Amino acid sequence: MSKIGTPYRRAKLDESDGSYDAIVIGSGIGGLAAAALLAKHDNKRVLVLERHYTAGGYTHVFRHGDYEWDVGVHYVGDLHEGTDLRIMFDELTDGALQWEFMGDVHDRIVIGDQIFELPAGKEALRAKLKSYFENEAAVIDRYIELCENVVRASRGYFAEKAVPSFVSRIGGGLMRRRFVNYASRTTREVLEELTDNQTLIAVLSGQFFTYGLTPGESSFGVHAVVAQHYFEGAYYPVGGASRIAATILPVIESRGGLVVTRAEVDTIVCENGRAVGVKLADGKEFRAPVIVSAAGVPATFGKLLPAELVLQHGLDRHGAKMRPSIAHVCLYVGLKETAEELGLGRTNYFVYPSADYEADHAAYAKDPDGTLPVTYLSFASAKDPSFQQRFPGRATIDVMAPAPFELFEEWADERWQHRGERYESLKQRYAERLLDVLFRFVPQVRDKIDYCELSTPVSTLHFAGYQNGEIYGMAATPDRLCERGLRAQTPVPGLYLAGQDVGLLGVAGALFGGVIAASAIVGRDIGRKVRKQYMRKRA
Ligand SMILES: Cc1cc2nc3c(=O)[nH]c(=O)nc-3n(C[C@H](O)[C@H](O)[C@H](O)COP(=O)(O)OP(=O)(O)OC[C@H]3O[C@@H](n4cnc5c(N)ncnc54)[C@H](O)[C@@H]3O)c2cc1C
Repeated sequence: MSKIGTPYRRAKLDESDGSYDAIVIGSGIGGLAAAALLAKHDNKRVLVLERHYTAGGYTHVFRHGDYEWDVGVHYVGDLHEGTDLRIMFDELTDGALQWEFMGDVHDRIVIGDQIFELPAGKEALRAKLKSYFENEAAVIDRYIELCENVVRASRGYFAEKAVPSFVSRIGGGLMRRRFVNYASRTTREVLEELTDNQTLIAVLSGQFFTYGLTPGESSFGVHAVVAQHYFEGAYYPVGGASRIAATILPVIESRGGLVVTRAEVDTIVCENGRAVGVKLADGKEFRAPVIVSAAGVPATFGKLLPAELVLQHGLDRHGAKMRPSIAHVCLYVGLKETAEELGLGRTNYFVYPSADYEADHAAYAKDPDGTLPVTYLSFASAKDPSFQQRFPGRATIDVMAPAPFELFEEWADERWQHRGERYESLKQRYAERLLDVLFRFVPQVRDKIDYCELSTPVSTLHFAGYQNGEIYGMAATPDRLCERGLRAQTPVPGLYLAGQDVGLLGVAGALFGGVIAASAIVGRDIGRKVRKQYMRKRA
């Protein structure tokens, strides 16, 4: 088994003997979860194919010199003992993945000149919010209760995604109804029913960058699930985000499976209307009775599946009402002192110019050189207790903001690191604005930066394969949450979907997208089975 700080083994495709029970396209947490559960709960030998040079999808990390940065894991909630997520992570990793609690305050929401802290623990959060908004105590109670109700209602909604299509046709509406009642409305619509205090609404939706849409655009379903996810605090993987894949891979491979990187699937091979294998970009073909696509719904139906099947089953409709989630820029900062020496805390910052998130976004859409509508600061080297052991005397910071894909699109086909001067100067302008925000909140790092590098939406396209540089799959609008077709079983026999477009965005949502796929394939609720095993062990 790999150790903390040891890059996991990257298998080569010629190690494969070609006979697998299932093929998973994409090694993000959604694909890896599906693969590990099929291996553990159905004795399947699973081949996972990943186009990137490393496994993990958005949970991968990258290194430069003495620095390492995470890409898509800054914090994960709901990981205290006994939660479904913790139990499932322990199952997927055979208990090998450890999590570090981020501490009493995981998020600081900065609105103009005001700072609001979100503490760990539902009661602490309630008390803190009431201390900020003394006249809104009843609203805050109702809000917390509402989020919890929505999360309870989501159980039927997500369970429906794993049942066979004929069951869904008969009982699916009922299973989904309670959640859809909330999910079909925007966050702003629901919050404005609770209060007209716009600052309170801005604070309650102050984590919206973690799901990418302002309250005026996001589904309240996604808002409630994400907000509740962090009620009891947040965690970071010990050893960095790459430990997620590193600890799941052995579970897949010890049962005869294989995870292969630099293996881009070009086409899902279908015969007589059934998915029977995949063809890679280099022409190699692999066959299996079960194909799981964890590469995102737009890529699966827009690129991988033969067009005639897409049309035959009306799968193009999935894209019609939906759009990609936001794209972003991220400044990866490296410093030649430790997080402790620099006084970096673990708390994330969400920095907003004002409480009118929609107006700020609209202004930025018109003038991308103007004020950033939100900037996010994350301090991984302070969150990971093993960082000093792995990278002595170093610290890292991620600074992120949304950025329109269209602004960078002209460089989409240019080679990485060869995109020319205009691209570099656009990057420079973004880097300067992100550094301004960083120095406002962490002024002590001003003269200490040893290295920094900006990723853009075309970097996301290049490394993650998302066509619009989107970071959360399909945008979490009410339409997306209410779309009935986003289920594990597709109308194409043998083809299943996993990952964030089936579950929900975020590490937890995508992981459960993998649980949903595996449950649909084996015809049993694996989540429930794993929980029962856990309860038996504890009894
Ligand atoms: C900048 C950023 C910050 C984030 N921060 C957080 C956070 O703090 N907390 C949190 O919970 N979530 C966060 N997220 C979201 C979270 O990382 C994702 O929602 C989740 O990891 C998605 O998992 P997935 O398996 O569905 O997809 P992905 O991780 O995108 O995996 C899909 C995989 O499929 C591969 N693939 C695509 N096409 C092919 C093909 N044709 N052949 C082979 N392979 C293919 C891709 O290379 C990729 O590895 C963040 C995301 C980003 C980008």
